[in-house]
Formats: sequence, C-alpha cells, structure tokens
Amino acid sequence: MSKIVLFDLDDTILDFHKCEKAALTQTLKALDVPVTEQNITLYSKINDSMWKKLERGELTRQQVLTNRFEEFFNQIGICRDSLKTKTLYEQSLSRQCYFVEGALPLLKHLYKKYDLYIISNGTAHVQDGRIAAAKIAKYFKDIFISDKIGKNKPSKEFFIYCAEHITNFDPKDAIIVGDSPSSDILGGINAGITTCRYNPQNAENLSGIIPDYQISRLSDLPKILERHFKNGGEK
Ligand SMILES: [Mg+2]
Repeated sequence: MSKIVLFDLDDTILDFHKCEKAALTQTLKALDVPVTEQNITLYSKINDSMWKKLERGELTRQQVLTNRFEEFFNQIGICRDSLKTKTLYEQSLSRQCYFVEGALPLLKHLYKKYDLYIISNGTAHVQDGRIAAAKIAKYFKDIFISDKIGKNKPSKEFFIYCAEHITNFDPKDAIIVGDSPSSDILGGINAGITTCRYNPQNAENLSGIIPDYQISRLSDLPKILERHFKNGGEK
C-alpha cells in the first residue's frame, strides 16, 4: 500500500510571506498607496487574523478576501476601492512562487517514494496560478483546495472529501505536514491522521494543539517519514 503525505502549501512548500509581500508591493504601487514596511506588516497582520476567523467559521471566504483590504485602508486612513484592490492583488499573488528553503529538493526526493497531495485553504485561481508558476503539480497525485471543495481545514468535512478522492485511503498510511497548528495540525487531529508540524522558527506553541512530530528544517522530513511508516504508521 502506498504511503501518503498530505502537504500544506503556504509556508510549508511556498513562502507565503515573500509572495504576499511581492504581490502587495505591486498592488499598492498600482494604487498609489505608500509601500512601507509598516503598511506591509499591518496588512499581513490583518490578513492573518481574517484567515484565522475563516478557520473558526466566523467569516466566509468572500468576506475575508474583501474585508482585509477594507480594514487595511480604514486603519491607514486612505480611501481606495477594496474590490478593485482584491482583483489587482489576486492577479499579482497568483504569479508569485517563492519556495520555502529546501522545499523543491524535498518534493523531488519524496515523490518517488510516496504519494504526495496538496491540501490548501487558499483561493482556487490564486493557488492554481502559483502551483503552475512554481512548476510543482507534477510531484502531486492530486491537489485539494478548500475553495473548490467548499470546506476548509481544519474541518473534518475537508478531510473526508480528500479521503473520498484518494483511492483506498487509510488514515494509518497518511501523514499531514504543515506549519499551522490551528489549520493543519488541528485538521489532522479532527480527521484521525498523524501530523508533522513544520516550525522553522521553533516558535513556542501556545495553541494547545500538539503535533505528533515537529521539524524545523524540511530536510529532516524524510527520516521522520521513514521511521513513522516503518513502525506501521503507529504514533
Ligand atoms: Mg500554511
């Protein structure tokens, strides 16, 4: 039976913060809004907190995608059309594909040994664009984007959908690899799938959501997978 690795995309394979910064810089320039570290950090903080609300079911995807710009312009006291901003930003973001350190060699190595899948909470056309720009689709058996499924990580329904679309899926043969406790690790716990958190800064985990494994470098993942699956997938 093939062993399965379910990879989160943002900040696990692709460096979301670099991509976000590049896209936001282009967008703000086009709208004649000052591009400062302060503005980029503020936007990033607003965006992050809105996605957390989506994970908790407090906002819809459409609300996140426009409210984040409304909130940003409110806070900096500049008036711009948030729908137009959303369009410009998504167009730019869908072309950004900076890799997390070690991600590409890792995929090239792992896809020969395991069945790899992407599980992402992103926006479909943006993630499709970035995956195409990064030329990584060939390493994955399938790509699950929550926007297309209509359910988000960490909900059990998201993972039920994935399981139903992977032939002979058995949770014991799978592991989730991702950077987010509230999305990837909680999702794994909800779905009964082993988890490995990628935590490059060794950030303190205040969430109370504990992964089965943790790595700070992607290059440490192959050893963990080998050991885990050698033990028959027991945690
Ligand atoms: Mg992530």
